[in-house]
Amino acid sequence: APVIGVLALQGDVREHLAALAAAGAVARPVRRPEELAGVDGLVLPGGESTTISKLAVLFGVMEPLRARVRAGMPVYGTCAGLIMLAEKILDPRAGQETVGGIDMIVRRNAFGRQNESFEAAVEVKGLAGGPVEGVFIRAPWVESVGAGVEVLAEYDGHIVAVRQGNALATSFHPELTGDHRVHALFTDMVRTSRAPESL
Ligand code: GLN
Repeated sequence: APVIGVLALQGDVREHLAALAAAGAVARPVRRPEELAGVDGLVLPGGESTTISKLAVLFGVMEPLRARVRAGMPVYGTCAGLIMLAEKILDPRAGQETVGGIDMIVRRNAFGRQNESFEAAVEVKGLAGGPVEGVFIRAPWVESVGAGVEVLAEYDGHIVAVRQGNALATSFHPELTGDHRVHALFTDMVRTSRAPESL
């Protein structure tokens, strides 16, 4: 089984570890560069993106993480994790950096105060079995994408799921539902990207 890490600096790490295990992966928390080196793919959880960014720099994993993403390691970011994968944040906080990996511009806390947290059915391209239950918590949306980015889902006219190569991101939190189809999709991406070496 593919070994998939969850960046465990802040955020809903446990929920992702459980969802990955349910999807058939060997799931491990990752805090240090040595731990990052031992995984085939990585999840960037939901939480607070500025805090995750600052802790990633502090723990010395920001640069190694950028290097692995550039080298094609599969990554999946939810919510704050989606923000971490953006090339650009429209409204970054002081000291907030991203890993990058997806050619997109994101807007933090985009759905506004009236609508801070909500659930909605979201149709995800390529995912069989009907819409997923989208859990949005102070969620970002994707303001715009470059030509190489595939839009996988929209909600209310805004982009909420994207993929570029081996990088996948959702504004919502599949790890908080019992539906592991998105984690299964990501686990398959990791399996596929690992295959050439293990042949
Ligand atoms: N609003 C948070 C941020 O900007 C993201 C919220 C979440 O991950 N649920 O980082």
